[in-house]
Amino acid sequence: MNNPQRRKTRAIGVGKLVLGQGNPIRVQSMTSTKTSDIAATCKQIKRLVNAGCEIVRVAVPDLKALKALPGIKKYCPVPLVADIHFQAAYAIAAVAVGVDKIRINPGNIGGLERFKAVIRCCKNKGVAMRIGVNSGSVEKELLEKHSGPTPKAMVESAVHYLSICESLRYNQLVVSIKATHVMDAVSANRDLSEKMDYPIHLGITEAGGKYYGSIKSATGLGALLVDGIGDTIRVSLTGDPVNEIPVAYDILKATGARIVSPEIISCPTCGRLQYNMEKAAAEIEKMVRHIKKPLRIAVMGCVVNGPGEAREADIALAGGKGAALLFIRGKKIKQVGEKEMVREVVRIVEEW
Ligand code: SF4
Repeated sequence: MNNPQRRKTRAIGVGKLVLGQGNPIRVQSMTSTKTSDIAATCKQIKRLVNAGCEIVRVAVPDLKALKALPGIKKYCPVPLVADIHFQAAYAIAAVAVGVDKIRINPGNIGGLERFKAVIRCCKNKGVAMRIGVNSGSVEKELLEKHSGPTPKAMVESAVHYLSICESLRYNQLVVSIKATHVMDAVSANRDLSEKMDYPIHLGITEAGGKYYGSIKSATGLGALLVDGIGDTIRVSLTGDPVNEIPVAYDILKATGARIVSPEIISCPTCGRLQYNMEKAAAEIEKMVRHIKKPLRIAVMGCVVNGPGEAREADIALAGGKGAALLFIRGKKIKQVGEKEMVREVVRIVEEW
């Protein structure tokens, strides 16, 4: 299910996937292992992919990491991105060994000529490049012009780098402007999406730990996704990157940007509740999470709001005393007892 308001962007191939032009918004992450440790990195990639990660990025900070890329690429079941700072030679070598995309920050790659060498290499090999701009890398002149690394300065910087790529007739580009302040990230990406039509990679950088980082990412990415902006997302959380994946999918689900598994709508409960709704809702959520069907399931405490929500949902339970009324597509089907309601809803989802 896609947001009908989604901004039109160009289609850019990244390995076997295509970003932009209405294609599903892809969920990506980055490994936290030493890239030079091929076994540990591949093990983490396997866990990420099992969790639903669709594009994996690895850091290439040194020669050992660069040398590990062919071994990782051979194993990696999803498109592999090499993240490179400071070393244009590493970017060129990573492209040569067959990574599917490189992520560079042109502001720290060693000057214009080296940036151009990387562009030519990507162009010759037909490999995509993400231009990642952040507040720390904005050029001196733009910092002076905008009195600091403001959203406008970051957008101008990104657009400038895109124009250099275009001057060399290279356009397999994805762009990201990341800021740690939500307002800056939202404002910069809104502005950027007005100024160009390359796919946008969204993220709130250094968002924080699992709880606050998820909330911060949801507010920033959520605002942009409801505007129809964003073609791939990364939720950055301190700790195991596997934790990022369900958060990313839930942000996509909550904004209606991409719904791949059932959405559970449940009330907060109140004094009218007469059955163990919390348990029922939690069990249903757990049991249907892996089912790839974009359904809305409402689990409501009582008949005050139950029938109303049932009309909006594909499947709904409106609670009563130790039981609930079961609705399918807004139509009342039957009453189900507390003991069988979870099993019954899961069965309907499986058969849907
Ligand atoms: S649906 Fe019923 S139980 Fe749930 S919060 Fe509303 S009134 Fe209370």
